[in-house]
Amino acid sequence: MPVTFDNTFLRDLPGDPEISARRRQVLGACWSRVEPTPVAAPTLLAHAPEVAELVGFTDADVTSDWFPRVFGGNALLPGMQPYAACYGGHQFGTWAGQLGDGRAITLGEVVTPAGARWELQLKGAGPTPYSRTADGRAVLRSSIREFLCSEAMHHLGVPTTRALSLVGTGEPVVRDMLYDGNAREEPGAIVCRVAPSFLRFGNFEILAARDDRVLLEQLVDFAIRRDYPHLHDAHPVREDASDAVRAEAAQERRAAFFREVCERSARMVVEWMRVGFVHGVMNTDNMSILGLTIDYGPYGWLEEFDPNWTPNTTDAAGRRYRYGQQPAIVQWNLVRFAQALQPVFTAPEALEAGLDAFLSTYDAAYEGMMAAKFGLAREGGVDDHAQTLMREGFGLLFDTHADFTRFFRALGDLPAVLPADASPRTLLGDVFYGEAVDAHTDRLGLWLRRWHAAVSATGEGPTARRARMHAVNPKYVLRNWLAQEAIDLAEQGDASRVHELLDLVRRPYDEQPGRERFDANRPDWARHKPGCSMLSCSS
Ligand code: AMP
Ligand code: MG
Repeated sequence: MPVTFDNTFLRDLPGDPEISARRRQVLGACWSRVEPTPVAAPTLLAHAPEVAELVGFTDADVTSDWFPRVFGGNALLPGMQPYAACYGGHQFGTWAGQLGDGRAITLGEVVTPAGARWELQLKGAGPTPYSRTADGRAVLRSSIREFLCSEAMHHLGVPTTRALSLVGTGEPVVRDMLYDGNAREEPGAIVCRVAPSFLRFGNFEILAARDDRVLLEQLVDFAIRRDYPHLHDAHPVREDASDAVRAEAAQERRAAFFREVCERSARMVVEWMRVGFVHGVMNTDNMSILGLTIDYGPYGWLEEFDPNWTPNTTDAAGRRYRYGQQPAIVQWNLVRFAQALQPVFTAPEALEAGLDAFLSTYDAAYEGMMAAKFGLAREGGVDDHAQTLMREGFGLLFDTHADFTRFFRALGDLPAVLPADASPRTLLGDVFYGEAVDAHTDRLGLWLRRWHAAVSATGEGPTARRARMHAVNPKYVLRNWLAQEAIDLAEQGDASRVHELLDLVRRPYDEQPGRERFDANRPDWARHKPGCSMLSCSS
């Protein structure tokens, strides 16, 4: 068997003495041992070769008969010790108490010969103590969405958990997709997701909520040691150091830890804004301490630009997790995280400094990113004229119902000289939805010419500009309707589109001749179709 496991989470932190999936409150423990529940007919529907290689699986491993059995939950590799983690969380702004891995089961932590650590986690592998009233399973449609989007985000350059495999279970799962009383049987599936750590803010919040200061301290120091080893090493203490010296080093490490979580979370959400990704359920149990995008549920991609858009119908009333509010929500979640950590900090200033670092990191990164998208990034910052152009540009994107992804790509493709009489539609192509643009032709035309003059003023030619802009403005994103087409086919037993989309999203910034249909505005059929514009938490 190819890989080596080193299950530090189980070894270094206390666990629940009961081994069973009986639903319960788990106190004084970070995890519960629980085995995946075997499925009828595990079949490998897709896998990501890059992730297999990262973890240390060869092609022969992937095609072997044990692979679908292991990643479908029917067998374990030597060294695997499955468990579910205990965590809580703030859901839609309200403390929800104990949540935990209700349908995720970690198999173990792989350590590669190069020293990398990868936690392997099945999603949909059956009930755990944290499943509450639900079944611990996942449907094929949501598993395809998680599998493809994890890899799409990675290749876009967005920090994310990865996906190793997509296994069909051969068993039906009953779901009421839109919570409207129309429950139906759907095919079940299991994704194996992969990350250095699946620790979330919620793992810490639950301990703080229960006043378990001792375990909270243990978990914080564990997270630093395992997931932030550079911070651990940066504050060494000698063997014979006094308790006071040790305590001081621990405080310094914790301060650096919180600060780095804040900075990474800021950079993550800036990347979401860049590619037009809307997570949909940014509850604190879905916030990774590594600043990774985690838990792909009712996420979506901006089509016509609208900062108020959210794909999640469960959030339709308040739109808490809409595109434009994502940075503020990350900040809100970090404040919850800070509150949870407070008992193990002697000085609140360290937590405040971390939150300040969120803001400064975010502000600088967001401005630089948006200027890069518009091709207006310059050494020494973004000047007032560029700021004005960007602000007006967003107003026009909104008013003209422009496709977020395709608009920026088209902007990058504009030639060295704009033909004097060319209309915006001629210049940019079919990047608009409906006829709204026609009411703004003059305004958009003027803006395009001012923008063009600004980007041309540096003397940079169109080839260099195109390359620079195309490097931050993807051509291919996992549009909601593209994923849905792949799902519809897969539900008929044909996974070929899943494979094709996986291949497509591997090179999102490249022109891919022959794949023009994947670079298109949302077709009319997808406008109100569930899965394309309407997604719920039912998965
Ligand atoms: P999510 O909204 O997917 O982040 O899930 C919130 C909580 O509900 C987590 O504790 C999940 O593990 C749990 N959960 C979601 N779906 C299921 C399911 N089908 N079975 C058991 N637990 C679930
Ligand atoms: Mg979750």
